[in-house]
This record gives sequence, C-alpha cells and structure tokens, in this order.
Amino acid sequence: MQVFPKFLLSAFAPAQFPKPEIPEIAFLGRSNVGKSSLLNALLGSKQAKVSSTPGRTRSINFFAIHDGPQKAAPKLLFADLPGYGYAKISKSISSEWPKFIEPYLTDRPQLALCLCLVDSNIPPQESDMQLIEFLANANRRLVVVATKADRLSGNGRAKAKAELCQGLNVDDILMVSSKTGAGLKDLWATIQAAAAE
Ligand code: GDP
Repeated sequence: MQVFPKFLLSAFAPAQFPKPEIPEIAFLGRSNVGKSSLLNALLGSKQAKVSSTPGRTRSINFFAIHDGPQKAAPKLLFADLPGYGYAKISKSISSEWPKFIEPYLTDRPQLALCLCLVDSNIPPQESDMQLIEFLANANRRLVVVATKADRLSGNGRAKAKAELCQGLNVDDILMVSSKTGAGLKDLWATIQAAAAE
C-alpha cells in the first residue's frame, strides 16, 4: 500500500498534541523491539524521518498519513511512543515514562488502536504484560504485533505465537517482519479497520 506520510511534531507535553480530529494509531513497545523499522516499513518512505535521535526518544512523535501527494487533509495519524523496558525492575510501566504518556493512553479521544509490539524471538516479558493490562483496564482496543518473524522457521513461528498468546493473555497476535514485509498487509488492514470505526 502506498501512503504519503509526513512527520508532524514531537510532543513533550499534552499542550503540544495535535488537535484530536482524526483517528490515531499508537505504536508501543520495549526499546529495540523494532518499532522504528516497522514504522519505516509501513510508511515505505524516508519522508517519515523515523529515527532514534535521543531528543525524540522521550516524546510522542506524530505522523500524518495522507492518501496521496496532494495537500488534502490526512485521514489518519500515527503516534510513535517512547520505548520502555530500560529498567530491569520497574514498579510499573509508567515509572520509566514521562508523566504525560499515561494520560495520553487513557484520555486521548481519537486513539483508535494501540499496537503493542513484542519481539517474536523473546519469551513474553513482564513489562509487555503490564502495558497490555494497563491498556485493557483503560478499555483501549489493542493488537499485539510480534516483530522480527523472519528470524524464526515456520515451526518456531507457530510455537512463538502460541507462547506469546498464552503469556500475554491475548487471543491472537500478528506476526510481522519489517525485513521481508511479511504480515504488513494484514497489519495495514487492521489499522484501517480500526480507523474506520
Ligand atoms: P526500536 O528501538 O524499537 O526502534 O528498534 P529498531 O527498529 O531500531 O530495531 C532494533 C534492531 O532490530 C535493529 O538492529 C534492527 O535491524 C533489528 N530489526 C528490526 N526489525 C527487524 C526485522 O523485521 N527482522 C530482523 N531480522 N531484524 C529486525
């Protein structure tokens, strides 16, 4: 799918969030899960300027997703949230995050879907579980996306999927690879379905 992404802004406080007018999709995951790679693969463009520049890591980075190259209003926003999981033992997922992240996740009216990224090569992690529980308690729609699926064989993939579903207590997981593009079509379909509701 060809889209025309445009980097909008990095927000460090709620006052800087874009006006909530169109559906928003949040990307969440532990650092190094492959979030930047996935955003780049989905957006298929360096225009998105997804980077791990230190200045951006504690902010929410917003991207407007346009259907075409014209200046027509975007129909969708992507919100790239800071990675978590630096601290080995953290009381809660939010203890590592700037204060405005938690209210963003609970209060943002246009947040249509939270994509919770986990690494398909790593067993279920406590921090991922904490985030999923937090979002479920906030009544947020979420989909778990397992990255780097190209590193697993067919059998290993099925096993990893079953283990993650069980460990994270979810019914289904989307397996994707930014490297091969596997699963990205399904992910786009999931994003568009959530945005259309
Ligand atoms: P972020 O910290 O979550 O933004 O993670 P990055 O996108 O920077 O990726 C972290 C590491 O995982 C890098 O070394 C990437 O090359 C690697 N990586 C990311 N996505 C994939 C993937 O789909 N397949 C493989 N094999 N490696 C990946």
